[in-house]
Amino acid sequence: MITKTIVNHREDALRWTQLLQPLGWLPEFRGWMALPESIENMTGRDIQAPKGVCVFMAEPEAFNAHPWFGEVRLLYVDTDGLVVPCCIHPQAGVLGNLKIQRYSEILAGQARADFKAQMANDRPSMKVCGGCEMGPAGDEGPSFWNSMAPPEQTW
Ligand code: SF4
Repeated sequence: MITKTIVNHREDALRWTQLLQPLGWLPEFRGWMALPESIENMTGRDIQAPKGVCVFMAEPEAFNAHPWFGEVRLLYVDTDGLVVPCCIHPQAGVLGNLKIQRYSEILAGQARADFKAQMANDRPSMKVCGGCEMGPAGDEGPSFWNSMAPPEQTW
């Protein structure tokens, strides 16, 4: 069983690890992430949207130099079947609907292609993605790496 906890300091992660591991839990930790359009920015960082297509929308070739744990070509599905690009914002875009389309159609579809093209060419104009700090594969940014940091990694 895994626990996932937000901590502000490495010492807090180590303290929780010492408590949880003897009980058989596998503790994972992360710092605060920057979530676009959230009313509060808990990271303490000024949010800068990087150039380029974010890691959630990257094609498999983008991971040749920076493998991403085998999780490529991800699509996220809402309870009503709407397919959205990521889990960082509830609806950064709508790429399709699994009630009426196949996964393969959505993956190769015009909505996804247009969304990617806009992110590649004019990301600042995008309402949500223009205020998101998730970067491309290999340069994912501080929110992404915070979410993956194992306890032994410095914060
Ligand atoms: S909100 Fe961020 S993570 Fe989600 S698709 Fe836009 S840039 Fe990518």
